[in-house]
Amino acid sequence: YAKKLGKNNYQFFTPEMNRSAQQYIKLEKYLRRALEQNEFVLHYQPQVDVKTGRIIGMEALIRWMNPKLGLVNPADFIPLAEDTGLIVPIGAWVLKTACKQAKFWQQNGFPIRVAVNMSSRQFHQIQSQQQSQHPLLDDVLNALDESDLPPELLELEITESILMQHLDTTMEILNALKNIGIRLSIDDFGTGYSSLSYLKRFPIDILKIDKSFVNDITTDPSDKAIVAAITVMAQQLKLEVVAEGVETLAQLEFLRKLQCNFVQGYYFSKPLSADDGYAYLLAQDDLNRMGASIG
Ligand code: C2E
Ligand code: MG
Ligand code: MG
Ligand code: MG
Repeated sequence: YAKKLGKNNYQFFTPEMNRSAQQYIKLEKYLRRALEQNEFVLHYQPQVDVKTGRIIGMEALIRWMNPKLGLVNPADFIPLAEDTGLIVPIGAWVLKTACKQAKFWQQNGFPIRVAVNMSSRQFHQIQSQQQSQHPLLDDVLNALDESDLPPELLELEITESILMQHLDTTMEILNALKNIGIRLSIDDFGTGYSSLSYLKRFPIDILKIDKSFVNDITTDPSDKAIVAAITVMAQQLKLEVVAEGVETLAQLEFLRKLQCNFVQGYYFSKPLSADDGYAYLLAQDDLNRMGASIG
């Protein structure tokens, strides 16, 4: 029996793990094909100015429309895309598509920014000898070039954990991105381990307060204190603040009192297809015009 076990111990996967490993390989195959077959789509979630109620930007959020699997959420394939390195071409596609969309909004009278999520592997791509600049800069410049989008309408969302890896190159990349003229934000702020001293040293424009703090802001005194502290600190450091995951009017009112600049969440809208997002912009514009004419 022991011999048999020993013989088979290359099979370190349990039957369940084995199945999931097979699934993993299958998913990887699908994922590789997805880019060629144009199965990725971006949805867009409005970001609203708390003071004016106007839409100031949209966050681009990827979805995978697979004929067999249906609509797959990023949580279910971004980790795999990271592991396999596929996130690099996927990330370049996201940048291109988001910039084209933002150019369309701008051309139709809505010069709002588009925010694009970065993944670690994409941010920390290795620069080869042949490359004169960091590959992420190439991707960003290509996307801006192809779309003719003014750089200030593009924002990159970077998490604390991405920022705190390879600090020296991180600083170089951030400075180079800043020189292009795009905006930089820290996503899921408060959940990571970034040192506050870096907030001052990184050329960051925006903090996005993680939705886990917003969720119970009206009932949990410590969440309220954390959000209040972040917004005060941000003001002192001349950073803007976006609160994520705003689902209720009560949460919005709290954030207004705390002088948070911008909000994003289901209370305003879930992430929308490009068409629905544009319709939403047009409808909000009508509302604002009506408001203005009423006085
Ligand atoms: P994130 O960047 O923090 O995006 C916010 C997530 O919260 C989105 O989930 C959004 O749909 C969801 N959300 C928005 N408002 C509310 C709300 O009021 N309540 C609740 N409960 N949730 C809300 P989604 O679209 O499933 O994306 C999940 C994560 O996947 C993102 O978190 C981001 O880290 C990653 N991701 C999405 N798109 C991309 C992409 O193009 N590239 C990379 N690298 N990562 C992406
Ligand atoms: Mg984000
Ligand atoms: Mg976030
Ligand atoms: Mg995130």
